[in-house]
Amino acid sequence: MLDTEVLIAGAGPTGLTLAIELARRSIDFRLIETATGPFAGSRGKGIQPRTLEIFDDLGVIRKMLNSGMPYPPLRVHLGPFSLRLSPMGGQRQATESTPYPNLWLVPQNHTEAILRERLAELGGKVELGTAFGSLSQDDGGVRVRLATGESLTTKYLIGCDGGHSAVRKAVGLSLNGKSLSEQVLLVGDVEIEELDHTVWHVWPLARGGPVALCPLPEQFLFQLTVPRASAEGIEKVLEKVSGWRAVRVRWSSTYRPASRMVDRYRIGRVFLAGDAAHVHPPTGGQGLNTGVQDAYNLGWKLAHVLRGGPEALLDTYQEERLPVAAAVLGLSSRLYKTRSLKRGDATNQLALHYRMSSLSSGAPMGRLHPGDRMPNVRLADGANLFDQMRGIYATEVVTQKGVRILVRPDGYVSSIGMQPTKEYAGEITRRVKCLADGLGESSQ
Ligand SMILES: Cc1cc2nc3c(=O)[nH]c(=O)nc-3n(C[C@H](O)[C@H](O)[C@H](O)COP(=O)(O)OP(=O)(O)OC[C@H]3O[C@@H](n4cnc5c(N)ncnc54)[C@H](O)[C@@H]3O)c2cc1C
Repeated sequence: MLDTEVLIAGAGPTGLTLAIELARRSIDFRLIETATGPFAGSRGKGIQPRTLEIFDDLGVIRKMLNSGMPYPPLRVHLGPFSLRLSPMGGQRQATESTPYPNLWLVPQNHTEAILRERLAELGGKVELGTAFGSLSQDDGGVRVRLATGESLTTKYLIGCDGGHSAVRKAVGLSLNGKSLSEQVLLVGDVEIEELDHTVWHVWPLARGGPVALCPLPEQFLFQLTVPRASAEGIEKVLEKVSGWRAVRVRWSSTYRPASRMVDRYRIGRVFLAGDAAHVHPPTGGQGLNTGVQDAYNLGWKLAHVLRGGPEALLDTYQEERLPVAAAVLGLSSRLYKTRSLKRGDATNQLALHYRMSSLSSGAPMGRLHPGDRMPNVRLADGANLFDQMRGIYATEVVTQKGVRILVRPDGYVSSIGMQPTKEYAGEITRRVKCLADGLGESSQ
């Protein structure tokens, strides 16, 4: 007799997204978190366009947009002079196919709070002060011992417990890769009186190493090359560099930029997702986004299998997400090494695809391939496809020429021009008619 169907260890952005995906499908799960209170820092603040589409599907897009702001322009300070540069990622107009074209700045603690609220609306909760301890597994399930002393059995255990993942260590996997810098960086949130809040300040030539102050709705996120300074020490450095009085350091932490990942996402009934599986340098804003998208890929598959779908569906999680993590890690490492401020389309994650997946079948239609992200399109009744796709089911789109496109619950094209199969795609509840046959041409 199992105590729960799924145990999620770690309630950061990855664990919370997975919990929402399971809760809205009425899957029985527990979400445990070692911390005794919510994470306080703004750290992973760049939400990419693809993740905004996912947040739309999860029902939190309004709150995310209201809690954040567009990426500001950069102001590079060079002695008495300063240079203004356009925002990282650029500023684009929304189009029908891409309703959220720009990177959005939301402090990570706000993102997590919004996801926790959504989870609560769906009846789920985070068990704080409850750390994963150890595990053993067999064909029937996973026996887990928590640090509280409690033992429980679960059908699947998902390690969403961050870069130092105890779940990863318990299944004998390690993060392979390297540190990208000898230096330990200090990052944190600070309130600074009167400093221009409309730009991202950078002092590349500051004594002691580059300093950056990124404006956030209520404060600045600082980054320094001074390791382990006290709050007063940080305030003094920022005061000296910026010329303004640093009022209050709210939160700070150190990190060493690294590029590492596991070579397997699954050992038996145990899966890894987010930073537990891949650790990124912050350049390009990819870490949190990749974790959320891991969870979004795994959630519907877990639910489908727990409802009687074929177990092999779960193998496609690693098949699809491991190459994505490798590509994204390569990208953020290159951006880190070249110090490039140019982002373009490379980082927005809209073009990430599962074309090589065993779940993708059929022939391409124009530029739209099986495995691609399904773009938004106008439907025959004037509605938006994304509005129709919102929710937990697969969607079948029929173009005016009668071509069928099956869209998976996570918004990727499963097949084009084939007889839809329920086996791997989840239950199809909607059949919608597409107005334009230029669908292939409008995809990103
Ligand atoms: C300076 C900086 C800037 C960044 N900027 C960006 C950005 O702009 N965009 C972006 O996408 N990413 C960014 N990131 C990366 C982002 O912060 C991480 O990728 C993200 O937090 C990963 O989410 P996660 O849920 O996988 O892991 P975490 O956020 O690490 O969450 C893991 C959770 O598991 C809990 N936990 C740990 N051990 C246990 C245990 N044994 N049992 C139970 N719970 C446990 C932890 O307390 C934590 O709450 C940045 C990172 C840094 C350092």
